[in-house]
Amino acid sequence: MRQRLSVETYTKGVLAGDRAMLSRAITIMESSLPADRALAGQVLQKILPHTGNSIRIGVTGVPGVGKSTFIEAFGTYLTSLSKRVAVLAVDPSSKQSGGSILGDKTRMERLARNPDAYIRPSATNLSLGGVARHTREAILLCEAAGYDIILVETVGVGQSETLVKGMTDFFLLLMLAGAGDELQGIKKGIMEMVDAVAVNKADNGNEQAAAQAVTEYRKAIHLLPETPSKVPVRVVACSALEATGLEPIWTLISGYHAQTSASGYLLANRRAQRVDWLREQIRYSLEELFYENELVKTHIPSADEAVQNGEKLPGQAAADLIALFLRTGSGDGQIF
Ligand code: GDP
Repeated sequence: MRQRLSVETYTKGVLAGDRAMLSRAITIMESSLPADRALAGQVLQKILPHTGNSIRIGVTGVPGVGKSTFIEAFGTYLTSLSKRVAVLAVDPSSKQSGGSILGDKTRMERLARNPDAYIRPSATNLSLGGVARHTREAILLCEAAGYDIILVETVGVGQSETLVKGMTDFFLLLMLAGAGDELQGIKKGIMEMVDAVAVNKADNGNEQAAAQAVTEYRKAIHLLPETPSKVPVRVVACSALEATGLEPIWTLISGYHAQTSASGYLLANRRAQRVDWLREQIRYSLEELFYENELVKTHIPSADEAVQNGEKLPGQAAADLIALFLRTGSGDGQIF
């Protein structure tokens, strides 16, 4: 049974960069127990002044493109530049399948042993909205613990890319040469979201094809409207396996960071992201309160049935349930 520590113990441990304490603090953020949530909120409030100093990088791409190999190689490269690196994951598969695409502990073994790196697998048994909230909180904790670079890995499934885009400063898409866009799960709109594309696996005789793919993606990106950051999207080739092409990727990310810091875009984007987080939090909390409400719970089965039978339209059934919910107040009756 996990022991709950004091706010001061978590706060001091995290600020001292104690990895075990950082993990414990993230665990209480992921808890659904009200006492843990209250504690988590207090810890977050305390560490807040020490956050915001990292470069937050989202990394996406289809399964098999080499995300974990890339993060291991890139993370190791960054630690060689005396950076401290934290790796977080947003993994929408972990809920449905019980397993996870990204959370496997055997991945990134070398980086995991590196004293300047911290790897946290995606929380399981949470909705995607829940994972997003906890990842945002984990980013803040990692920053307070002194990590300079936060890599947030995600598979391009469902809404996860949009969520990760909404919590990072820079969004990197890994691609493969030679595989059709369909195969790579390239959804309409993803190209508009990225700040850079890296064509991975440019090794073992695949270099030519990778160079060709770089040219093609550059052309495709050229046709897109200007990015909100005003920094042009870059396309490069790399090999995560052989750890080549990593330096140019770091150069372009640090260049992006310098440019957007100077232009004010970096902070403006983070301000907008915080407002989105607030909106998301409101939606999430309201839904939670709604479904926990006793009267709502009692009436949901009959509402479902009426809608299934076509006796009531979903809009009307929802309005009726919400009216019931509002009449009873919200859960424990406490608002703030
Ligand atoms: P993920 O599913 O996107 O995390 O992909 P993984 O990192 O697990 O890699 C999938 C497979 O591709 C593994 O067998 C890796 O060894 C291989 N792989 C990853 N990066 C490279 C690379 O740069 N070159 C080559 N040749 N293979 C790679």
